[in-house]
Amino acid sequence: MNANDCLKSLGLDAKQFETGDLEVKSPIDGEVIGRVQQDTAETLDKKIAKAAAAFEVWKSVPAPERGELVRLLGEELRTHKAALGRLVTLENGKLLQEGLGEVQEMIDICDFAVGLSRQLYGLTIQSERAGHTMRENWHPLGVVGVISAFNFPVAVWAWNAALAFVCGDPVIWKPSDKTPLTAIATQHLFEVAAKKFGKAPDGLSQLAICGRKIAAAMVEDKRVALISATGSTAMGRIVGPTVAKRFGSTILELGGNNAIIVAPTADLDLALRGILFGAVGTCGQRCTSTRRLVVHEDIYGTLVPDLKKAYASITIGNPLEDGVLVGPLIDEGAFVDMEAGLKQAASEGGEITGGGRVLKNEFPNAYYVNPAIVEMEKQSDIVHNETFAPILYIMKYKNFEDAIAIQNAVPQGLSSAIFTNDVREAERFTSATGSDCGIANVNIGTSGAEIGGAFGGEKETGGGRESGSDSWKAYMRRSTSTVNYTSDLPLAQGIKFET
Ligand code: NAD
Repeated sequence: MNANDCLKSLGLDAKQFETGDLEVKSPIDGEVIGRVQQDTAETLDKKIAKAAAAFEVWKSVPAPERGELVRLLGEELRTHKAALGRLVTLENGKLLQEGLGEVQEMIDICDFAVGLSRQLYGLTIQSERAGHTMRENWHPLGVVGVISAFNFPVAVWAWNAALAFVCGDPVIWKPSDKTPLTAIATQHLFEVAAKKFGKAPDGLSQLAICGRKIAAAMVEDKRVALISATGSTAMGRIVGPTVAKRFGSTILELGGNNAIIVAPTADLDLALRGILFGAVGTCGQRCTSTRRLVVHEDIYGTLVPDLKKAYASITIGNPLEDGVLVGPLIDEGAFVDMEAGLKQAASEGGEITGGGRVLKNEFPNAYYVNPAIVEMEKQSDIVHNETFAPILYIMKYKNFEDAIAIQNAVPQGLSSAIFTNDVREAERFTSATGSDCGIANVNIGTSGAEIGGAFGGEKETGGGRESGSDSWKAYMRRSTSTVNYTSDLPLAQGIKFET
């Protein structure tokens, strides 16, 4: 099935993608797989107005009813998992297994949100005043603007949209301009579900296909209550302050620089598998990809040669083919960044194994690379940066305290992991004095989170949380109500104010 077949099977007319001002290329072979028409400032403005009008209707629909729409969306995704998963692979270049996994993640968050639609609970609080009750109310927040990155072209929308819809909020989605086809297909599935539901207001879910210049209008617009932005820290540095300036809300899901510590008691076979998936899986293009390895000096001589052997045995190639473990980088820009990162690493004393472009003859317009291992004496400047490519920096440690210090000494704080069979180390790692990241795993790698937990990270990763746990609260506004059922009017803190 090529991209046209996938689009057809998803219910779209492939003809619609023959013209348009944005060319979409597959990272698999660099060939054009479609063209889409981008929004202008005027069309985006109209969409924001439409979403604001939809909010006025949607916020009054009972949450469990809103959940029914999300249940129907989940059904559409189940039915079309194969075609949408394949389209993710064709447009983004991740392995077919991962493309399908991404759609499964959308289905999972829909299921989660359906249950949540009956559990948007607030607290009841004991009042200090007799005859008074206090409670928290959770109300819909308003229009949610979702900005997503190329590397999770559809799941990030689902994490946000499934929760936003049950919370009573319309969504305008600005996907990466590298992956608009999967966004259009997803929006179409939403529209099919909305039609079956029958009560969704026009404008509840809309797409804004545009670059960052036009998207800036949405970021600046007061009618958009929440901007949930996933992408690089550089993007967050612009989007965060812009929304803050107008007192809007943000969920920022930005860059990571994730480390695995391997302790002397670790199950090395387990560690090896966890490191490999984390470092080379998705060609190093996950926000949670393993970028740093901190290995105890006693096992360094065993683990690192084994890891190099494992790297040498990896099949790099077309992500649609069985047996391939590493697909292409998204584009030439990503390859240039990888080369620059490795050059800087070498100049900072790094000893490089691997790296470089491969399969150039087979795919002259695509960018396949050999994943690289870089052994570093210390955590130099380049190791503090997120290069969005399969580069793994390896450092040695002697004392556990040093390992934690190395883990925490980067500006980002997304994901982290330790492989150890020492319960004290494991507990310490997840404690307040351990990893400073939003994700701290024990005996599993840094990537591959489940939707049930809150996902996100600290420091330059932005501090946002999405998906499971109580992340839904970011999509609602809270009011605290005190109700007096007496004929007295006592003031809090015992204050007297009487004539
Ligand atoms: P990117 O920052 O280049 O783009 C992300 C999105 O932001 C795109 O839709 C882009 O068009 C938009 N954008 C960029 N600048 C903007 C601006 N000034 N105003 C409005 N929109 C703007 O990132 P990318 O290359 O697509 O994705 C890779 C990055 O995303 C990595 O840094 C990765 O770690 C990060 N990421 C983070 C998470 C997370 O949950 N923390 C998840 C996925 C990806």
